[in-house]
Amino acid sequence: MDLFEYQGKQFFAQYGIATSPGDVADTVDHAVDIADSVGYPAVIKAQVQVGGRGKAGGIKIVNNREEAKIQAGNILGMDIKGHLVKRVWVEHASDIEKEYYVSFTLDRSAKLHMAMVSAKGGVEIEDVALTDPEAIVKYHVNPLDGITIAEARDIAVRAGIDKPAIDGVSEILVKLYDAFVKGDADLVEINPLILTPEHKVHALDAKVTLDDAAAFRHPEWEAYRATQEYDGREKLAKELGLNYIGLDGNVGIIANGAGLAMSTLDVVNQVGGQAANFLDLGGGADANTMTSALEVINTDHNVKSVLINIFGGITRCDDIARGIIEALSRVELKDPLVIRLDGTNAAEARKIIEPYVSDKLIVRPTMMDAAQTAVNLANGGDVK
Ligand code: GDP
Ligand code: MG
Repeated sequence: MDLFEYQGKQFFAQYGIATSPGDVADTVDHAVDIADSVGYPAVIKAQVQVGGRGKAGGIKIVNNREEAKIQAGNILGMDIKGHLVKRVWVEHASDIEKEYYVSFTLDRSAKLHMAMVSAKGGVEIEDVALTDPEAIVKYHVNPLDGITIAEARDIAVRAGIDKPAIDGVSEILVKLYDAFVKGDADLVEINPLILTPEHKVHALDAKVTLDDAAAFRHPEWEAYRATQEYDGREKLAKELGLNYIGLDGNVGIIANGAGLAMSTLDVVNQVGGQAANFLDLGGGADANTMTSALEVINTDHNVKSVLINIFGGITRCDDIARGIIEALSRVELKDPLVIRLDGTNAAEARKIIEPYVSDKLIVRPTMMDAAQTAVNLANGGDVK
């Protein structure tokens, strides 16, 4: 679960990580009252779960009550990259001497926790990683040992953090690791972590992803959950009982079995395409499940072709083929469909589908062929 900035700051506060005094508001009047109480200049920040809010006009510094009113009015209700701003965070504005980046996440390949620290904060870390990878120091933390203040200092020095900020940055690193572990987070990120002209170090932004698998020991997460905004596709899929994760591509994917669904995403990627989703039908997929799957994919406006990839084992391909035909009689699919069926009773399955084959319903013998065809179609090409 991803938190909003204001929730991330409240989360950080529990671990003693310094932030600017502020509060969250969902009306202009309340935002202005908060600005009055934290004192001017104040900063009004759109609460949406997307980066680059500043550039999009979602972060404004205001010098008095009138400006606060105008800017809160502008930002509330604003659309930032498809996200509607329902709340603003208002805090006392900070003077910034330097902006840094710090985070902890899980490095799955190393099977260790990993700190990332950079003296180049305030910009998207992905951009720094591309243009100046040397500017990011990565440090693995063994979860059994944790991180000491001496290690944190060492990382800060290596990252080129300015002298007056070394103590503050290392203290925050230790606290942030505590928040990461005790708070059961998958990611804690502060960008920017700032050095003020008075040589204080504190967090100006907060990005936190909580580990949903740990939700059972955090009843207090209910408050965060209440404000979550789910992807419409995922919400529908959940209601229909499907194992679905929305992605950004244009090839809708339906497969049976999580492993095959994952491989299908890989193969689509390998032939130069982008999957619109992960969808595992599970075992024993019938016409009802197939109908639900097609319905969810049909609601995705990015989808330009659909790829059904089935490997029959205990579930027989002919049963699945009947399910597909039945589902297609119930759902009017807006995009062309490419089907690959292999495994138990695959030949019978292809016979069942054959009478329905057209420009919009294509059968391919292998996973690679099917992926290639689906990607071609999604990108406006022909059936090759
Ligand atoms: P993001 O762009 O969505 O990640 O939003 P951030 O909270 O990281 O803010 C973006 C930028 O706005 C920061 O890097 C700062 O340059 C600027 N900013 C945010 N808060 C303040 C503030 O209190 N004072 C000043 N001077 N700039 C701020
Ligand atoms: Mg930021």
